[in-house]
Amino acid sequence: MPLPKKAIALISGGLDSMLAARLIMDQGVHVEGINFYTGFCVEGHTQAIRATDKPKRNNALWVAEQLGIKLHIIDTSEPYKEVVINPKYGYGAQMNPCLDCKIFMLTHAKKFMDENGFDFIITGEVVGQRPMSQRSQTMPLVAKQSGTEDLLVRPLCAKHLPPTLPEREGWLDREKLLDISGRSRKAQIELAERFNIDEYAQPAGGCCFLTDPNYTRKLQDLWQARGDKRYELDDIVLLKVGRHFRMQPYFKLIMAREEGENNYLEGYKSQYTHVFSTSHTGPLALIDGVPEAKDFEDIARLLARYCRKLENVSGVKIMIAQKNQILAELTVAPFEPDAIPQGWLL
Ligand code: SF4
Repeated sequence: MPLPKKAIALISGGLDSMLAARLIMDQGVHVEGINFYTGFCVEGHTQAIRATDKPKRNNALWVAEQLGIKLHIIDTSEPYKEVVINPKYGYGAQMNPCLDCKIFMLTHAKKFMDENGFDFIITGEVVGQRPMSQRSQTMPLVAKQSGTEDLLVRPLCAKHLPPTLPEREGWLDREKLLDISGRSRKAQIELAERFNIDEYAQPAGGCCFLTDPNYTRKLQDLWQARGDKRYELDDIVLLKVGRHFRMQPYFKLIMAREEGENNYLEGYKSQYTHVFSTSHTGPLALIDGVPEAKDFEDIARLLARYCRKLENVSGVKIMIAQKNQILAELTVAPFEPDAIPQGWLL
């Protein structure tokens, strides 16, 4: 008896890739998942750091656990920079290079497939669902440019696409694949019910922060301030944390919004000049860039503004420090809310 075929499924943590993998597993194929860490993923950081009623979990791992499959998490944050900085097919509505991103991920998935003895690749893509990467014109382009060609199966919408090799060879029964199309989530939600899947990550959510206008505004600010589009992993992770105030072209303040973020920023104190109050409970802030001495008072007044129990207080003591060295100690009056210059908060 021939060995079962092996497929590698791109698992984002959302419903579609979960359903796609499940459909193929139901045809007797051995499925393992693959998930790419780009640094921009919604998974992990923000939900893990902030106080939230959402479950603190990595959804890709959770999906793999629900399906009972092995998940390979691959860190592609370094080569992914080229996709974000210089996308051949441009950006979507925000800074999301979805077409280049899909090609990038599938190219890496194909390499993984070849090196690890898998027979084909599955994605949860649906024709017509996303304006950039999941259109009938761009889906063949993605398959061609990634080198996956007809080893790429999109089970949720396969009947809208030409039969792939696994279908033509009889590894998969094309009749059991689906014909979902468009932006409606109805068919996927019905399918989830059929599979008794009653819990899944926000079905229409983007896979990454690059579709988030608040995030991309901060990314554009970072590039503008640096004069080019380079970034380090810490830069893009910190864009997910805290309030960002561009106080001068040569520095910005990253201020924690709550306790979880405060704790998180603590871990960066050895790398960044930082600001905190020694007289009041309040946030920790990092300074990205090099402020001048004339900026210290504004920095202190801004941080003081976000300290607690300010009633009847004439001055708030603020310390600006770098590693173990104190750069300045000031006692300041907090900014009145309407005195904070418009445009500082990104
Ligand atoms: S939303 Fe982000 S992760 Fe998803 S395809 Fe677009 S760029 Fe890639």
